[in-house]
Parts: sequence; C-alpha cells; structure tokens
Amino acid sequence: MNERVTLYIATHKKGLKYFGKSKKCHDLDSLMKYGGSGKYWLRYLNKHGKDITMEILGTYPKEEVKEIALKFSKDNNIVESKEWANLKDEDGLEGGWKKGMTTVYDNIEKRNRQVTVDEYNKYKDVRYIHINRFREISDETRTKISERVKGEGNPMYNKNHTDETKKVISQKNKGKPSPTKGKPMSEETKQKLRVPKSEEHKQKLRGPKSEEHIRKLRLIAKDPKRNAKILQTRRENGNDKVSEETKKKLSVSAKNRPKVICPHCGKEGDKANMIRWHYDNCKNKGQ
Ligand SMILES: [Zn+2]
Repeated sequence: MNERVTLYIATHKKGLKYFGKSKKCHDLDSLMKYGGSGKYWLRYLNKHGKDITMEILGTYPKEEVKEIALKFSKDNNIVESKEWANLKDEDGLEGGWKKGMTTVYDNIEKRNRQVTVDEYNKYKDVRYIHINRFREISDETRTKISERVKGEGNPMYNKNHTDETKKVISQKNKGKPSPTKGKPMSEETKQKLRVPKSEEHKQKLRGPKSEEHIRKLRLIAKDPKRNAKILQTRRENGNDKVSEETKKKLSVSAKNRPKVICPHCGKEGDKANMIRWHYDNCKNKGQ
C-alpha cells in the first residue's frame, strides 16, 4: 500500500498557526473538518473557537515526508516561536506523545523537555512550567520563576545526586568545555577558595587513594601538554617566578624530609632520590 501523508498549515483567526500532518485527510474540506491535532492547538481551539483557515503544503509519500516536515519545522522555528502552537517539531510520522509524559519548560536546563506528570507536579512552578502556560506568561514572570529556582528554591538545594545520576551526567558532559571556561572568577569565589580547608577536608585529602587513582594522578602529572599549559598560564599571570618566600619554605621542607642511608655506599639523602639512585640501583651494589 502506498501510504501518503498531507502536510498542512492551519491558521486561527487570532493569528496562531499550527503545522500538522494527516494520513487520512488530503483535501481542504476534510482537513477543515479535522482541524488538526496537537495538545496546545486543540486546547486553543477549545478556548477561542474553531475559527481557522487551512493551507495544504503538499501530499507526499511516507518515505519522503519526514525530511520535508522537519525542514519546514526548523525553517519556521515552530517550537520556539510564539506564532506557532506546535510543541515539538513535526516529522510527518507518528504522534510523539509518550503516555504519562508532559512537555514543560525546564528552568534549570533552560529548555523544553518531556517529564513524567509526577515529576512535573513535584516541581511545578519551582522548576518546571507547563509549556502551555509558558507561552502565555510574561518575561517578568519568567524572570521571577528563574529567581525562585536559585539557592534554597532549587529542587536540588542541600541534596545530592545519586552516584548513578552523577555517572549519567558525567558521561553526558564528557569532552564538553566547562561552563566556567574563560569566565573570570568573582572576588567572592576567590575569597571562598582562599579559606583554609577544614580538618575533615584535610584528612579526606590525605586519606588512602586507590591504586587506580594513584596511577591516574601519575599519568596526569606527566602529561606534557598539561604541564606546558600550566607553565604558560603561570607566565601570563606573572606567577612563573618562585618567590623568595616560597623558596625558603621549600628549602625548609626539604631539610625536614626524613633522610635514609644507602647500605651499599653509605651515602645519606632524601628517600625518593635515594631509592632512585641507590639501594638496588646503587653503583656500588655487588662490589
Ligand atoms: Zn649507594
């Protein structure tokens, strides 16, 4: 069977447009009777009356319709634009509504997305705005809602993602530059970072690292690209010269490092250096 799909544009007397498809209606009369589908569009017709005009974009074989419909959707920006009632791009194929899902504007991710009705109800107006309402509310209200999801108003305030969720987020962000990349740090943030670490934090940092972790750290420290970059940043910031004060500190800590004596040649020195050049590697070994 040669399935055909008709793409049409319905326009309401008040100006709102809807881009749709039909597999059954291929002429203006039947399309007018049909009126179109679409959650928001139907609700709109219910409220403002079915006072519409119809225009046929074309009737296409099922195999070709997807490309044409998507191109039209993108070219006319039917999802974002307030002139259109469409809540998603039309692909001329199946209606994409998933059962139990609803389209909302996500104030944290700053985009439209589908969430379960339960999820929507949970964070209604704090994080999600129902898309039908979102189209109607003013910029002022949007800003207000945006303010509300900051700090304590954020659904994630004082909560942590599960490890599972963290993994998913991490995978999704792999390879993307950090959102703070290239942005100068505020004085406030810098001050926060300057505060000494708590004893608990220090202990955590000192705590045993896994073999895997140590291996990774060694690899990172040896990466020539990374080291060149660090050096360059230091130079740019004028931090490439070690200050007299730092030198003094380094010298003191070097002097305080525990000394060991090589059993083969009797030389005394720093443990790390001695292990590298003496002990089993000592020139005098086996003499
Ligand atoms: Zn030795």
